[in-house]
Amino acid sequence: MKVDEYNKKRAIFEYLKLLNKNGSGKMKASLSVAQIIFIDGGIWKARQIRHWSNYWLLHNALPISFQGKHQKTVRLIDDEDVAEKCHVWIRNQNYKVTPIKFKKFIEQNLLTQLGVSKKKTIDVSTAVRWLHILGYTKQRQKQGVYYDGHERADVVQYRNKFLSDIFEYEKLMSRYEGENMDWILPDLAEGEKEHILVTHDECIFYSNDGQRGVWAKNGELPLRKKGNGKSIMVSEFLTEIDGRLKLKPTDIEQYPTVPAEAREYLEPGKDREGYWTAENVLNQIKTKAIPIFEILHPNCIGIFAFDNSSNHAIFAKDALVSKRMNLNPGGLQPKMRDTYWGSDNKLQSMVFPDDYPHEKLRGQPKGLKQILKERKKWPIGGLLLECKECKEKKDDENRINCCARRVMSLEPDFLAQKGAIAEIIKKAGHKCIFYSKFHCELNFIERYWGAAKRHARENCNYSWAGLKQIVPQSLESVSLVTIRRFARKAWRYMDLYQKGIGGKLAEYAVKKYRSHRRIPDEVIEELNQIEFS
Ligand SMILES: [Zn+2]
Repeated sequence: MKVDEYNKKRAIFEYLKLLNKNGSGKMKASLSVAQIIFIDGGIWKARQIRHWSNYWLLHNALPISFQGKHQKTVRLIDDEDVAEKCHVWIRNQNYKVTPIKFKKFIEQNLLTQLGVSKKKTIDVSTAVRWLHILGYTKQRQKQGVYYDGHERADVVQYRNKFLSDIFEYEKLMSRYEGENMDWILPDLAEGEKEHILVTHDECIFYSNDGQRGVWAKNGELPLRKKGNGKSIMVSEFLTEIDGRLKLKPTDIEQYPTVPAEAREYLEPGKDREGYWTAENVLNQIKTKAIPIFEILHPNCIGIFAFDNSSNHAIFAKDALVSKRMNLNPGGLQPKMRDTYWGSDNKLQSMVFPDDYPHEKLRGQPKGLKQILKERKKWPIGGLLLECKECKEKKDDENRINCCARRVMSLEPDFLAQKGAIAEIIKKAGHKCIFYSKFHCELNFIERYWGAAKRHARENCNYSWAGLKQIVPQSLESVSLVTIRRFARKAWRYMDLYQKGIGGKLAEYAVKKYRSHRRIPDEVIEELNQIEFS
């Protein structure tokens, strides 16, 4: 018998003896026994003695200890039968074990099987410790900022422009600063409107996403299943002020025709709802994001920020895009909107008028040759529709007369043509910005997806039905304060990049100065002296 066990048994014996002998109160009896037997005998030990004694009377044994810090106590998990039960359960989970699921198993199955009735819950940290004792570690893919492409000349140039634009807007935005995220209103001049960043992105939740890291024994990593199973795509807008872009309950009553939230779901795959296209995003902006934003923030300007993807760069059907034009009239080319050109802003229709002499061409698109002729830009020798270099998208600013599409595309009205998203937003009186490519750390919604996916992983059984249920719950589980912290982190990155600090050094500083939206200048100076290998 170990000393620990001996002391416990002696304490029980003395305690029960005292109770029988003179009927003294349980408290008093247990306390005096605690003081006789244990060096640190006090109220806590006395309570334990009462617990051990009750347990002894019921089970004729000592209760199993949950503490494992000292050699002298026996941990439940050290028991071979217990460990085996855990191993069996973990193997049956097929690499989908998480500490939270393991904790639930211990509480709901294991402890009852073992007849432990007193202690009904354990900490997640205990579950983690047990997993480690059983030989499981979390093996994860590295997450973080990827630097591929950050230093490409075009990326650097775009990033600089993006940063200078967004910081110009930021002067007119509310900020959340300091440990307590104090709300600081912008300093607005007469007639200036508050600007609010409305960030957008799409994210796909897969039914067999698995965990980003799995709990597995060393060298026992499972292969990822091919394909990603069924999935749900979410397209959502966030602001620092509101979190998710949605109406307040009182607004819902007052504006029954406006959708309650901007979020949209889609189940991709041909046999279900089809694919999420640029049209879907446009529609969501027009019918949901803008109307909701304007109810929440009347008299404010939204800075709608999008990922720089091709899906977001599409043009309206009638936009001035030379690539969509043919040399000759008619055919399948689109009927484009009227435009103005030249120093005197002359109106030009892209379509032949209804009284055009050539009857067959009435109402038909004019085509490049006709349009350029009207602008006196059609050379005597004529032009190819599109030259080889243009077809291969080789960019050379000196090549200006190579083909009809190129000549047309360099006309000021064609150059000024904005994408469909930008047009809708501008028309509504708001502004639009596209994030720098390869820089997802600048869009704080990325971290929101990360948090929601973590929640989904911990709580989803990854069946199709389970996924449909868990995705909305997971999104709602990310709190407003958390969203604001994500936003502040993104601002911190932008601040560092603008001050010329990038890569690992920026990552380090972003983590170190958590409560800052901007990194103080003296710190920037210090940072510049750190060498990162
Ligand atoms: Zn060309």
